[in-house]
Amino acid sequence: MQRCIKCLLPSCLPGSEFDKNGECSWCRSGYPNYQPKGTEKLEEFLLPYRKSAGAADCLLGISGGKDSSYALLQMVKSFGMKAEAFTYNHDGMADFALRNATAVCKSLGVRHHIVSLQPQVHMRSFRRFFRAWVKHPSNIAAGLTCVACKHLHILGAELATKRNIPLIVWSNCPLEYAPYIALKLENRNNNQLNRGGLFEGGLLLVKQILSSKELLQSFISDFRISIPGCMAFSPNTVYLKFRFPNLKHLFFYDYIGWNPSAIVDALENNVGWKKPKDICDDWHSDCVFNVFKEYMFQNLLHASYTDSFLSSQIRHGILSREAALQKLLQSKRFYQQALYHAMEFTGLTDLKHEIDLSCFDTKE
Ligand SMILES: [Zn+2]
Repeated sequence: MQRCIKCLLPSCLPGSEFDKNGECSWCRSGYPNYQPKGTEKLEEFLLPYRKSAGAADCLLGISGGKDSSYALLQMVKSFGMKAEAFTYNHDGMADFALRNATAVCKSLGVRHHIVSLQPQVHMRSFRRFFRAWVKHPSNIAAGLTCVACKHLHILGAELATKRNIPLIVWSNCPLEYAPYIALKLENRNNNQLNRGGLFEGGLLLVKQILSSKELLQSFISDFRISIPGCMAFSPNTVYLKFRFPNLKHLFFYDYIGWNPSAIVDALENNVGWKKPKDICDDWHSDCVFNVFKEYMFQNLLHASYTDSFLSSQIRHGILSREAALQKLLQSKRFYQQALYHAMEFTGLTDLKHEIDLSCFDTKE
């Protein structure tokens, strides 16, 4: 396997287009090529929402992870917004995440709502799509294992509407979108991130669903989850705009730079947030389904979300290539060990003989 000389992405990835020096196309373009818009622009954006007529000025989605906890801390303490928060609690969520979310809200005096689908609905949807992926592995089948999770955008919008709150704040970090997986960020030369790929993504979705009997069956048998989930895969899809025309969305890290060590320091010192123990990295560690996601893409593409996330951090000067490589190798070992345990937790042990853990083996 040849990895890019600047980042960690391998040459086997579609679109990597290594040049003769061994540099990938994403390093050449600086993906995701953007600068945070900054505090002043955020103040400007927030102005119309201050002292809104609703229960609060904004509603924050908080998973209990560091990025959303920090966004809440900042919105309340630095930007003086009256906030409420909600957590999407699902069947694969780790206990420590909900504990952290609750502790952060309590210490900031923020009302905390918990939203969820009916018990086991998320788990059932996940299992169906993972089984379909095992029979017929594809990017789209892998992406659909998370379709139930997209209901958090719907549940959040419903809650905001009910509470008459005009703005929802999301904490997706622009560095975590992989350019070779599903959605990618586009920068149309104006430093505005566009969570794009809607049309292409939709076409690919239909094509792949129709080409796999298992995937089609999973999609149809769970259509109450899969159809709205697909239509709400991002907070600003046409479907959500149509259903909730007065609701606005803010992506916090489009404005404020993402600095992981500063984020953890601020949280540990101010709001009783604790870094989870016994895990290799806090990123996505709050969700058992993420272990499968890492496996599926590692198996399909020899690179997962982690490879992309770390590579974007190298390009943005957050990590050296050497430090990122050590983190990457550690994460591969972690997921290799975690997968069987995750299969037991989700009731999928009958598929063990169809799993090939050697995809996580690395030679470095
Ligand atoms: Zn590169």
